[in-house]
Amino acid sequence: MATRIKKVLQDKNVATCITVQGWIRTRRDTGSFSFLEVNDGSCLANLQVLAGEKLANYSEEINKLSAGCSVVVTGTLQESPAKGQDVELQADSVQVLGWADPETYPLQKKRHSLEFLRSISHLRPRTNALGAVTRVRSRLSFAVQQFFHTHDFTQIHTPVITTSDCEGAGEMFQVRATGETTDKPFFGLQAGLTVSGQLQAEVYALALGQVYTFGPTFRAENSNTSRHLAEFWMIEPEMAFCDLSCNIEIATDLLKYVLQDVLDNCQEDLKLFDAFIEKGLVEKLKNVVTTDFVHISYTEAVAQLSKVSETFEYAVEWGIDLQSEHERYLTEKLYKCPVIVTDYPSSIKPFYMRVSDDGKTVAAMDILVPGIGEIVGGSQREERLDVLTQRMTDAGIDLKEYDWYLDLRRYGTVPHAGFGLGFERLVQFATGMSNIREVIPFPRTPGSAPC
Ligand code: ATP
Ligand code: MN
Repeated sequence: MATRIKKVLQDKNVATCITVQGWIRTRRDTGSFSFLEVNDGSCLANLQVLAGEKLANYSEEINKLSAGCSVVVTGTLQESPAKGQDVELQADSVQVLGWADPETYPLQKKRHSLEFLRSISHLRPRTNALGAVTRVRSRLSFAVQQFFHTHDFTQIHTPVITTSDCEGAGEMFQVRATGETTDKPFFGLQAGLTVSGQLQAEVYALALGQVYTFGPTFRAENSNTSRHLAEFWMIEPEMAFCDLSCNIEIATDLLKYVLQDVLDNCQEDLKLFDAFIEKGLVEKLKNVVTTDFVHISYTEAVAQLSKVSETFEYAVEWGIDLQSEHERYLTEKLYKCPVIVTDYPSSIKPFYMRVSDDGKTVAAMDILVPGIGEIVGGSQREERLDVLTQRMTDAGIDLKEYDWYLDLRRYGTVPHAGFGLGFERLVQFATGMSNIREVIPFPRTPGSAPC
């Protein structure tokens, strides 16, 4: 049985015989030895393999190995006399499984730009940076699940295909069966890919109390920004018997929990990002985990932003939707930490957010973080049938289509709340990657859907 290199480097069981399998990163020759740097993706570090000229295939094969070749190595682990690693593998055999022609293999030793790597999305996970992103993303996903399970949430799987387009009419992808006609749609109604699982999550929250959905979400964003994808993953918890402050508490706890988890479990990868992607990343994450988030109302935010209004492209006044430049000013320049903004004007927020006593604002909350802007968007939901019906009518929504949603208020309604956390934005924040295209394996953006 082969051992994963991560385990080899952790256990450092010198004098044992082991087999590893992976890909060559580099080879250099000194005298009667080749030094092979082998990586198997289990961790950032390579295992150094010493292959001596006495090996049967030394001149025919080992001496011709180059970046990208796949090998199986068996040998004895020993202490390394050289700096840079504690252990190395003295090879008894090096079997070559696959060659990688150095004339054509795109990943040569030099550092490649992230833009170039995007053009080879089938090979980029073999680089240090993208391999590290992939491991951190996986760990964050695990930590999210762990947070909810240790806090007694039930996971639900909300549909990818939906016929409710309340929120995302302009941003929806349509779904049609081959040969489907407009007068006889496959699902009876016009269908699309989900823009949010929230409404369905509400159904289950009002039965199971605390639920979450974590799945792919689709928006026909035509903006090509560094923080928007057409296909992304969203974490959407929904809690019955929960108001805005309870909602804020859960969102804050979740962010701190998962970031602490990667600080504990992805140290090697975070160190790489800290050195090459975002200086001070680890310090930033530690601060976020240990310090309180600033909490201000939308009205206060507008007052703060008005004072420096000339720095913005879009003017600030009460009633406007905060633009990314405004959000980033608040979190990066003014407070220099995560900021929770609450109580937005009802006119710029969807019908399901709970109208406050002032009649002008809704119990909404966004969490803004440095480098990204909005990472979480949530609200307490409108639980009063009459207020909700009025809001929907005002918004021109067909009440008949949402009868099931109104039933939730007709029968055993309770205060409830929830939010959406963009998983890729979370991975961006944890890795320091400035472009969202780096943190999902195969990004879908206008004009581009590789592999
Ligand atoms: P933004 O103003 O940045 O477009 P939004 O207000 O449309 O965000 P919500 O509808 O509240 O976002 O969605 C909840 C969360 O999902 C956001 O806070 C963000 O983290 C994430 N998100 C939204 N749209 C995208 C997208 N196109 N790509 C990646 N993540 C997204
Ligand atoms: Mn949006």
